[in-house]
Amino acid sequence: MKLVSTLTLLSATALIVCAQEKPQTTDKKPAVETKTDKVVKTEDEWRKMLTPEQYRVTRTAGTERPFGEAYEEFNKQGEGTYFCVCCGAELFTSKEKFHSGCGWPSFYDTSKAKGVLEKKDSSHGMVRIETVCKRCDAHLGHVFEGEGYATPTNRRFCINAAALKFVAGNEKKPELKDLDKAKAEAAEARKKEEAASK
Ligand SMILES: [Zn+2]
Repeated sequence: MKLVSTLTLLSATALIVCAQEKPQTTDKKPAVETKTDKVVKTEDEWRKMLTPEQYRVTRTAGTERPFGEAYEEFNKQGEGTYFCVCCGAELFTSKEKFHSGCGWPSFYDTSKAKGVLEKKDSSHGMVRIETVCKRCDAHLGHVFEGEGYATPTNRRFCINAAALKFVAGNEKKPELKDLDKAKAEAAEARKKEEAASK
């Protein structure tokens, strides 16, 4: 009998906790999906943050011209880490970098942070695997398999240099400021909304 009442108490407590944690419903879509910690911004916000080329590549699934300036820079870079130019998420490191000769930055794998998402892409009359940033959906490039490169994975992540922010090994990694900022902005907007509805 004692056990039963304890259990009843427990489930009652659980119910209260659930009820308390239930988010307030608002008609307006929040700026940030808190569940997945995704960075969601409007096209205008991205445009303000990025150069026209970075915007075209990452937000409109563009492709930079091969052997361009950003690629030349990429080739000169030594040991370090490659982050998403939009949100600062870790994507690749120089350890997975290899020279494929295709004119775009090539990696045989993503970094251990696993910040890259692979998606089927049927655009331009081809079936390819598109790679995007897991955190902010930035278009990075594509991944190709079985091309015969002498790498541990036989995969080639063909990435636009414009989508990457390089940080040399001895330099400080960028903070994921944009997510915090977006969260703070969303909280601020919710506060204002609540105040307005009172
Ligand atoms: Zn990103």
